[in-house]
Amino acid sequence: MSLYHLPARRLAIDRRRAEFADRECEDRFIRHFLPERRAQLRASLLFSAFFYVVFGLTDIATLGPTPTAWAMVALRLLVALAALCACEAIARHPDSVRVSIRATCAVMVIGSSAFPILCWYQPAAMPWNLMSFGMILMAIYVIFPNRFVYSAAIGTGASLAFGAMLLVQGSLKLDDLVALVLMLILGNALGTIAARRFHLAQREQFRSAMLLEEVADCDPLTGCHNRRIVERGLLDAELTRAGRYGAALSVILCDIDHFKRVNDCHGHAAGDLVLGAFAGLLRSMAREGVDCVIRYGGEEFLLVLPETELAGAHALAERIRHAFAQASTPVGNGSSVTATASFGIACVPALHPYPPASFDVLIEAADEQLYAVKRGGRNGVRGTIVAAAPELLRSGT
Ligand code: GH3
Ligand code: MG
Ligand code: MG
Repeated sequence: MSLYHLPARRLAIDRRRAEFADRECEDRFIRHFLPERRAQLRASLLFSAFFYVVFGLTDIATLGPTPTAWAMVALRLLVALAALCACEAIARHPDSVRVSIRATCAVMVIGSSAFPILCWYQPAAMPWNLMSFGMILMAIYVIFPNRFVYSAAIGTGASLAFGAMLLVQGSLKLDDLVALVLMLILGNALGTIAARRFHLAQREQFRSAMLLEEVADCDPLTGCHNRRIVERGLLDAELTRAGRYGAALSVILCDIDHFKRVNDCHGHAAGDLVLGAFAGLLRSMAREGVDCVIRYGGEEFLLVLPETELAGAHALAERIRHAFAQASTPVGNGSSVTATASFGIACVPALHPYPPASFDVLIEAADEQLYAVKRGGRNGVRGTIVAAAPELLRSGT
């Protein structure tokens, strides 16, 4: 789960394609369900491979142990082999959405292309084969986790191939042929309805969960994130991500100076307005969708700045400090309040050989800087570079 919430407008569902209209959002949705999807896919592949091969018994029963029957069994084994290869690919790339979808599509295309060939040699068993084909359609539309559009395309393509085989084979009377074609159309229509409903319901549920999470993570007074984001370990994940890519990461901890006086002199409601104005300033100066602004305490805020070196964080803090000191917040009755704020910065530079193991280390370092500014007279900015704990540095880990 990423640190940032997707805005509600990006959670719009394209009902025709039965997926999120926004690609990143759809990707996040699929990623969220990837472990569950992997298990479902594996079970579906093994189950289908098993039955595809077992039904080879019917080929031998219908045709006898002839070379054609054995060739059909071999074809079934090939389909099962493709399913096993898909399982292997998914196991090798457990985090890849693309591999999961490609493997599903490949097996479904191979399985449904082989089926008309098997049916071609058994015109007498056509009613049974039609039943089997109905089950294949069910697997394509409902059992195998896939994108709705791909399921629909593969289901339709497989039905066209099956229908074409029936037509060319010419073993059916016209009335039977018409009934079979109608059954194929009905099978696809029902499959499309069931798959579409399922895809839409899953996404609507995900959207509700995202919106609830956003409300739960949002501070109602300032519109910033609240501390839940820290408690959910998302900042540690941000630090890990920065370490993995060798990117810089800075945090700014800021606190309004003598805020108690604002409350005491102008009232709590005026204090709230000043808090809101300060938070608005922080949010307007942060990069949307990149930086994260958290209300860390009463009048204390934490800015998380990915890919930002100390100099950049320092420049940003100075800009905010200057803008806030210059601004005056109207607090009603024609009066306005001017206040200042102090800023402490901690930074892990890019490609730092000893990044700290926990985000708490960064917050503690920023807090020390902040209180140094407070002790030095307030309305200032101080920053430091942060490394792993000294004992880790000594042991060189
Ligand atoms: P310093 O410069 O050392 O930070 O002094 P300060 O007065 O800003 O800090 P102190 O910790 O003494 O007081 C913080 C005040 O912030 C006290 C508390 O009532 C007020 N406060 C905390 N949350 C809110 C809020 O949501 N609204 C309002 N109006 N005041 C709040
Ligand atoms: Mg304060
Ligand atoms: Mg404070």
